[in-house]
Amino acid sequence: MSNNQRHAVVLGASIAGLTAARALRDSFDLITVIDRDTLPEGAAHRRGVPQAEHGHGLLARGRAVLEELFPGLVDEVAAGGAIPIDIQRDVVWVFGDRPAPRTESGLHGLCISRALLESALRRRVKALPGVTVLDGHEATGLCFDGVRVTGATVRPVAGGGEHEIRADLVVDATGRGNRGTAWLAGLGFERPAEERIDAGTVYVSRDYRRVPGREDFACVLNAPGPRRPYGGIAIAVDGDRWMVTLLGVGADQAPPTDPDDYLAFAAKFADPRLHALLRDAEPLGPTMRLRLPASVRRRYERLTRLPERLVSIGDALCSFNPAYAQGMTVAVAEARELGAAVRAGLDGLPRRFYARAARVIDAPWDMSAGGDLAYPWVEGPRSRRTNFLNGYVARVQQATGYDAVVAQRFLAVANLMRPPQTLMAPAVLAKVLRYGRRTESLAAPVAAREVPVG
Ligand SMILES: Cc1cc2nc3c(=O)[nH]c(=O)nc-3n(C[C@H](O)[C@H](O)[C@H](O)COP(=O)(O)OP(=O)(O)OC[C@H]3O[C@@H](n4cnc5c(N)ncnc54)[C@H](O)[C@@H]3O)c2cc1C
Repeated sequence: MSNNQRHAVVLGASIAGLTAARALRDSFDLITVIDRDTLPEGAAHRRGVPQAEHGHGLLARGRAVLEELFPGLVDEVAAGGAIPIDIQRDVVWVFGDRPAPRTESGLHGLCISRALLESALRRRVKALPGVTVLDGHEATGLCFDGVRVTGATVRPVAGGGEHEIRADLVVDATGRGNRGTAWLAGLGFERPAEERIDAGTVYVSRDYRRVPGREDFACVLNAPGPRRPYGGIAIAVDGDRWMVTLLGVGADQAPPTDPDDYLAFAAKFADPRLHALLRDAEPLGPTMRLRLPASVRRRYERLTRLPERLVSIGDALCSFNPAYAQGMTVAVAEARELGAAVRAGLDGLPRRFYARAARVIDAPWDMSAGGDLAYPWVEGPRSRRTNFLNGYVARVQQATGYDAVVAQRFLAVANLMRPPQTLMAPAVLAKVLRYGRRTESLAAPVAAREVPVG
């Protein structure tokens, strides 16, 4: 490396790290992406992202930002079996008692396994000039000159001594379990305040064989809510699979792992299609149970002192309740903001980046962490605003079963394509007041257009 080449080090080669590397490439000559896992060549599972065995929904905003950072990505993964969809037409959404009308929404989604998405991003990032992916190396700490972080220390996982990698910028993308706050304290800085909500959700997931064209949807979701604190989702993904997750909010609602009981659990849902799918499809493996960790938001943007040349991103900055499918989308949106913040220079970067990232995080955090507080047994601070919003969202969700426009607007907000305030627009409000109180047993699905998928 010559002295005047700018070098960024990204710790973590998962969704946040890979997209951050792409966003930084326009401003740095050299980028080293470090991961402690030995990274597979193709779409395979690996130890560092155990969550990849559970279905991952990619929101419309996530797809849009990924396509902006990696033009042609959607076509590329579609050739590998991922399924591009219209979020409303191709998905059975059940938020209240009835499924939302299925109609063209203009919201573009992508049904893809986490493993395929990550492998496609890895291939694209590795192909960028100046980028090196150093796997099998664990980041162990930071180098610091009293003002700036000047690099990171790493150690080969297979054994060997720790060494320094010098850098003009270090990005911590090491995920939920990251040691960023401890590293900060070790350098003499305060730890950021943390907000933490634990909904006590349990996932039990299983893969099934998918016969393309047999179902007329690419995804079916029965969302949990305080009235029915359980639900489930099946996502059609590459490899002709359904990735299925059944979930319960609170330990006493946990789905069973026994195959017969698993099937019986799905029979409780308001919409029968997920149960029918499980009854008829061939299982491809055992059930896998996971108690979801708490959601944690680290308030770096509120610290008065920060070291220069260091930022945290992705789950290391804010990890969400996975049930809202926001984590990957927020991570890639933060990476985009990092690219923009770096283009304005490196001085004062952490402060500028964290201010931008907070604006990305605010709405999804309010929706998921605030939404978890709708369950009376979930602990956390409930303001009048939280209670009002949860009451209103429950009505919106109920109304999605009766009105295609309310459903479209709610899906646009849940997919982070429009701000939550748009749910209060007079035209939506009137329909929510009209339909939001109705409850009835499940009626026949309202199908504006139902076509076989994939
Ligand atoms: C069960 C479950 C289901 C989920 N479902 C969804 C979903 O439907 N939709 C969605 O958008 N999100 C979902 N998420 C969230 C999503 O998985 C995360 O938001 C996303 O993976 C965050 O990416 P990241 O790069 O920040 O962290 P991670 O993906 O956790 O990656 C961290 C990386 O850092 C590496 N690493 C860690 N420590 C070190 C170290 N010291 N040195 C070097 N490397 C290190 C790891 O090997 C790993 O590659 C789900 C999460 C879970 C747990």
